[in-house]
Amino acid sequence: MKKEIIMNILEFTQQFSSEEACKYHFKAHRDKQGIICAKCKCTKHYWISTKWMYECSSCKYRTSLKKGTILEHSKLPFYTWYLIFIFMSATKKGFSAKEVQRQIGMKRYEPVWRAMHKIREAMGVRDDRYKLADMLELDDGFFETSTPESTKKNLKRGRGSQKQTKVLVSAESTPLEDIKTGKKSTSCRYFKMKVSPSFEAKENDQIITALIKPNSVVMTDQSTSYINLSNYVEIHMSEKSSKEVTNTSLKWTHIAISNAKRNFLGVYHKINAKYLQNYLDEFAYKLNRRYFGDRLFDRLVLAISNPVLSSNG
Ligand SMILES: [Zn+2]
Repeated sequence: MKKEIIMNILEFTQQFSSEEACKYHFKAHRDKQGIICAKCKCTKHYWISTKWMYECSSCKYRTSLKKGTILEHSKLPFYTWYLIFIFMSATKKGFSAKEVQRQIGMKRYEPVWRAMHKIREAMGVRDDRYKLADMLELDDGFFETSTPESTKKNLKRGRGSQKQTKVLVSAESTPLEDIKTGKKSTSCRYFKMKVSPSFEAKENDQIITALIKPNSVVMTDQSTSYINLSNYVEIHMSEKSSKEVTNTSLKWTHIAISNAKRNFLGVYHKINAKYLQNYLDEFAYKLNRRYFGDRLFDRLVLAISNPVLSSNG
C-alpha cells in the first residue's frame, strides 16, 4: 500500500510540475467532453491560447477553462486543486482536510476543506448517473455524527452534540454456486449509500426509487421501513435479521457499512451530520472503482471537468 502511494506521488510530481501542466491536463479532459456555449448552445469552439479561453464559433461568446465546473468560483490555482485530487485518489483510506492542508503547505484550512467537499459532491453526482440493477441487497446502518449548533438545543442535555444518522446502503450482489463443490457465495459490483434523515417508509421509497431500477430483485431484513418496496421493484424478498443473514444474504451491505464506519472514525473522528452524505459519496465512489488503481486519478479529473455533472457543486 505504502509503495503504491509513493509511486503515485512520484508520477504526479513528474507529470504535473507546473500550473500550466495542470491546466493543459484539465483542458484535455474538458475537450473530450466538448464545450457547449452558454449563450447559443453551439458546440463548436476555438481555443484562444493567449487568453486560456474557448470562443464560440457562432456567437463569439467566451468560456473559461473553469466555467461551469466545481473550480469556477475558486481562487485556488489548478496546481493546488491537482494536489488535492491526488490526495483524494491515491489511497483507499483518504485524508482529512487538516492533513491535506498540512501536506500541501496551505496557510488556510477553509479553502482546502471547501475544495474537498466540492470534489465529494462531484463524486456523488457522477455516481447518481446510474442506478443499481438485478440482484440487490438493501440494508441500513447508524452512523455516529455531530450536529450543527442550530439544532443542538433540541438534543438532550448531557448527550452533547451526539447523534446517529441513518444511512440506506444497497449493493449489487449476484449469488454464485461453485459447480464442483456446491459452495455458495456472492460476487458484488456497485454500491450506493444515501442518508435517510427520517428513515420513514415514505422517505425511503423516494430514495430507493432514485437508486435502483424497477426490474430488480431486492433482499432486505423485515424492517417496516421497506414495507412499500414490492410496489416498485420486481421482487422483494425479506428475511428476519440474524447472524446468518448478515453473513450471507446481506453480506456486502454489512461489509460496506462497517468499513465506512471504521474509515470515518479513523480519518475524520466525528462527522457533522450535514456533511455525512459527502463523505459517503467519496467512500462509495472509491469503493465502486476499487479495481481502477492508478486510473482513479484520471477518472476523477474527468468527472470534475464535466460542467453538467458538477453543476450543483
Ligand atoms: Zn455561442
